[in-house]
Amino acid sequence: MAKKSPKNKSVKGKILPQSPKGMHDILPEEQPRWEKIRGMLYKIADAFNFLRIDTPIMERAEIFERSGEATDLVEKQMYFVKTKGEDRFVLRPEATASIMRAYFQNGLSKISQPLKLFYIGPMFRYEQPQAGRFRQFHQIGFEIIGDEDDSIYDAQIILASFRLIEELKIKNLIIQINSIGCRQCRHAYIKKLEEYYKNKQDEICKNCRQRLATRPLRLLDCKEEKCQPIKMEAPLIVDKLCNNCKRQFKSTLEYLDSLSLPYSLNPYLVRGLDYYNGVVFEIISEVPELNFALAAGGRYDYLSEMLGEKKVCAVGSAVGIERLIEAMRFYDIPGQLRNEAKVFLAYIGEEAKKKSLFVIEELRKAGIKTIESFIKESLKSQLRVADKKEVKITLIFGQKEVFEESVIIRNMETGNQETVPLIRVVEEVKRRLH
Ligand SMILES: [Zn+2]
Ligand SMILES: [Zn+2]
Repeated sequence: MAKKSPKNKSVKGKILPQSPKGMHDILPEEQPRWEKIRGMLYKIADAFNFLRIDTPIMERAEIFERSGEATDLVEKQMYFVKTKGEDRFVLRPEATASIMRAYFQNGLSKISQPLKLFYIGPMFRYEQPQAGRFRQFHQIGFEIIGDEDDSIYDAQIILASFRLIEELKIKNLIIQINSIGCRQCRHAYIKKLEEYYKNKQDEICKNCRQRLATRPLRLLDCKEEKCQPIKMEAPLIVDKLCNNCKRQFKSTLEYLDSLSLPYSLNPYLVRGLDYYNGVVFEIISEVPELNFALAAGGRYDYLSEMLGEKKVCAVGSAVGIERLIEAMRFYDIPGQLRNEAKVFLAYIGEEAKKKSLFVIEELRKAGIKTIESFIKESLKSQLRVADKKEVKITLIFGQKEVFEESVIIRNMETGNQETVPLIRVVEEVKRRLH
């Protein structure tokens, strides 16, 4: 944890070595888990034929302001970027709106119908850091954008997200699923919800009173204890869905059944952004220690219109990488290990040192990973490093060997040593490794 220090001020010309609150370095020791997640993403994306897209980390603020009007995300959590021009830029708080912007800007509908995209990258939200929540965090996302709102795409998005997490060996997974209806049926439902909550204003928490005035659907999201009994009695949107929404919800569940994916209906599940409609879902690992969604998503058929474009149907999900890492730690799932080096190069004297990079290059070209320790001067201490790294072979390159254009090959198990011509070093090493 960071030490307490005078706020941001440099002390005696020394800059405080402290990253911004809620933003962290991903150190070498954590990289293998990141590597494993990335590797799994590429496998899953390829298998389901999702194409990669990268959008800028910065966007014009209006992209998110339009798509997330009156949401906490837009009103409280965006990082504005100071520039010399008039433009208002923000660090992206999420990527879906950016991708929809890119879809229209680049005419991406031409690539395929529907268009299946995936992304991976950092997002930024100004909020209170807590378990599984950071100010800079990383997301993987899958999006399917096209003309039709066929439920098979909802199922495919859920499937891809689920498999990504499952293949990482994260256990106790379950899909929480709900439908938040379309404009028509949701409108009628919200009226009912407001009516119900109106004469209970004194019994609900402050946040809920605010939600009732601005975003009533989020009333269902409240975790406050005193609001629970009231929430339990509230009308449910699943009971008020129009025929079309009902049919789509049912059809998505049938797809999940046919895939034997574990799900549970959660009538209180809503999403933080207004552009969602129809099926919404979260994937969680059902243990008390991991009390956050690993993935979340849903249909967003209204987003394109909110950005002022023609209507295109779309469905997508976002998976939190830091949350996957947390879950991997919890289940003791190791990361992707790097190939261990089997060869160490030791040198004696300046001439040998000068030539050693050349020898390592020859081995590299043959696909053999070689490590060294240029900082250790004595042969003894170099061999100690080689021992610690558990290499099979150490090449010893001394003054005599440089002069004779040869090298000593030492078998680290038996201690046997043999001198071979430098020109044959690659084949001699290869022979001994196999
Ligand atoms: Zn509907
Ligand atoms: Zn409440």
